[in-house]
Amino acid sequence: EDLQVLSSLQSIVEDLHCQYKSLQKGVVANYIPELAKVSPDLFAVCLVTVDGEVYQIGDRDRLFTIQSISKVFTYGLALEDRGRDDVLTRVGVEPTGDAFNAIILDEQSKRPYNPMVNAGAIATTSLIKGADATERLNRLLEMFRRYVGHDVFVDISVFTSERATGHRNRAMAHLMLNFGMIQPNIEESLDLYFQQCAVMVNCQDLAVMAATLANKGVNPITGKRALQSTYVKDILSVMYTCGMYNFAGEWAYKVGLPAKSGVCGGIIAVVPNKMGIGVFSPSLDQRGNSVRGVKVCEELSRILGLHLFDCC
Ligand code: GLU
Repeated sequence: EDLQVLSSLQSIVEDLHCQYKSLQKGVVANYIPELAKVSPDLFAVCLVTVDGEVYQIGDRDRLFTIQSISKVFTYGLALEDRGRDDVLTRVGVEPTGDAFNAIILDEQSKRPYNPMVNAGAIATTSLIKGADATERLNRLLEMFRRYVGHDVFVDISVFTSERATGHRNRAMAHLMLNFGMIQPNIEESLDLYFQQCAVMVNCQDLAVMAATLANKGVNPITGKRALQSTYVKDILSVMYTCGMYNFAGEWAYKVGLPAKSGVCGGIIAVVPNKMGIGVFSPSLDQRGNSVRGVKVCEELSRILGLHLFDCC
């Protein structure tokens, strides 16, 4: 019976791709030229099971920058580097009804609300250990390599554009510096944050990264550990409550899976102990989530009964 389910996964992703290819709503991110010029027609879907089976369709080889999806993985590395208690003193785990790029900290604790909003992600990135900027970047890239199972690179033009235009992010770093919540070398932390957002991946990479989280931190393709298993639940919890911008509540209700999206049009969703889902389609809705990506995940959850609390 299980084998039958597996062989039908390929036809399910093909059907969904076919069904939503014609959906033309939304607009591609346009805050930097590199993102604005991406074709809205690009569309890829990939499932990777914890047994390492891969099912995919569409623009599978197309590389794009990971953007906010990186926040999930940097949070994991910060937890490994500093431990849960230390990280919690710097970044909260509370969802916010504010925009992902709001220049705001928790009134009492002066922490960013959670690691999935930009302020929280910048604070998280600043916690990554390393003797200097180069070592910190190398450790971050090494971490991404463990999750995708091969070499990764930073898109230099996206990185330099983000750095040249990222004044809101710079303002958040200054606000945290004002409260002594971040190391004084904020330009270095911002660079690292912009670099992590500009790491290039394809849709299968996203699905393998999600499958690694589904598989207790072990990459199901390489068999190598990417993250200590003890931190998987921390990451999945903040993904569940804060991963989909201001759609997180509705997503949790409808799709019922920990997930993260980014302005690149990528979405990852994790089905614990089963599989990782990756979708790439650059047109975004008003909240910043991929229009087709949301639809595909809603349908996958419904068809395969993936909602975590669907126990009947
Ligand atoms: N590099 C983007 C920023 O920091 C990431 C935005 C996103 O994907 O949400 O604004």
